[in-house]
Amino acid sequence: MSKRIGFTTTLPVEVLLAAGHIPIDLNNIFLSRDSEQLIHEAELKGFPRSLCSWIKGNYSAALSSDLDEVIGIVQGDCSNSNSLLEMIAEEGIAIYKFSFPAQPDYGAMDAEISRLEEHLGVSRKQTLEAKAWLDSIRKKLVEMDRLCYEERKVSGGDNHLWLVNASDFQSDPQRYENELDEYLKRAQSAKPLPTRLRLGYLGVPPIFRDLYDNISNLGGDVLFNEIQRQFAMPYLIPDIVEQYLVYTYPYSVLDRLKDIKQEIRRRRLNAIISYTQAFCHLQIDNLLLKKHIDLPFLNLEGELPEKLDSRTILRLESFFEVHA
Ligand code: SF4
Repeated sequence: MSKRIGFTTTLPVEVLLAAGHIPIDLNNIFLSRDSEQLIHEAELKGFPRSLCSWIKGNYSAALSSDLDEVIGIVQGDCSNSNSLLEMIAEEGIAIYKFSFPAQPDYGAMDAEISRLEEHLGVSRKQTLEAKAWLDSIRKKLVEMDRLCYEERKVSGGDNHLWLVNASDFQSDPQRYENELDEYLKRAQSAKPLPTRLRLGYLGVPPIFRDLYDNISNLGGDVLFNEIQRQFAMPYLIPDIVEQYLVYTYPYSVLDRLKDIKQEIRRRRLNAIISYTQAFCHLQIDNLLLKKHIDLPFLNLEGELPEKLDSRTILRLESFFEVHA
């Protein structure tokens, strides 16, 4: 029987689909609903004010999405995942812990994917069939991304949305692909967008509601959405184990830097906006990104799912005045 399986960040979604289940990225649920209410509900259960909003949002999204199971990524994502999972289990929802290896290691990654396959009752052959299907969609996402940074026919905001939703293909890859096909048809015949400043966006997806709109109002655009692009597995590697080893997000910030530097050159970026989430350990990684990236670098911090505050808008405007 098909199960609704929530998860806390990108994982080998191929396995879930091979087993005939419905993948649900809790982060996408959190932002698509009444996010402030979801945070409020978690705080009523005792989650502290000084805890990342995504964790509180994931918790309430898990409880209100009619899930059969939640898979938490307890290594290679968030330092809060273990505790979050225990809280979800306490509410009577089955949990499963998935770990990326501490370093990209073929044997360890292979074993972890096999363990998930065993848990969901699928063979590697079935997983690879699902992967072939998803890769045909990912190939179209690579083209959508190219239309953004090369032909400028896709905005940074649209690029962000397509890529960030590739973690679970909005729970329905066929519908996602149909909508992507329609979008690409329109984009190919669109006029190129103006770009006063070619920006790269680094870090986890923003919790701000209108960051991309504000950037384009200033005449710039985001031509590289770093982590979102990683969610879309853009390298199209046939070996599923390799695919999740070249995926940079779970590993060292230095692995991320290699990818970022390559894309800065390829996309001819002029400046970087690096996003950090309040109360997130990745703020420390951001220090190294800033140190090792030789481009104008603006760090924005968000906490709640809301529009940009006036101070952040002013900082963006000053950044454009100096660098555009
Ligand atoms: S933003 Fe940071 S603290 Fe929040 S869920 Fe993601 S990794 Fe965890």
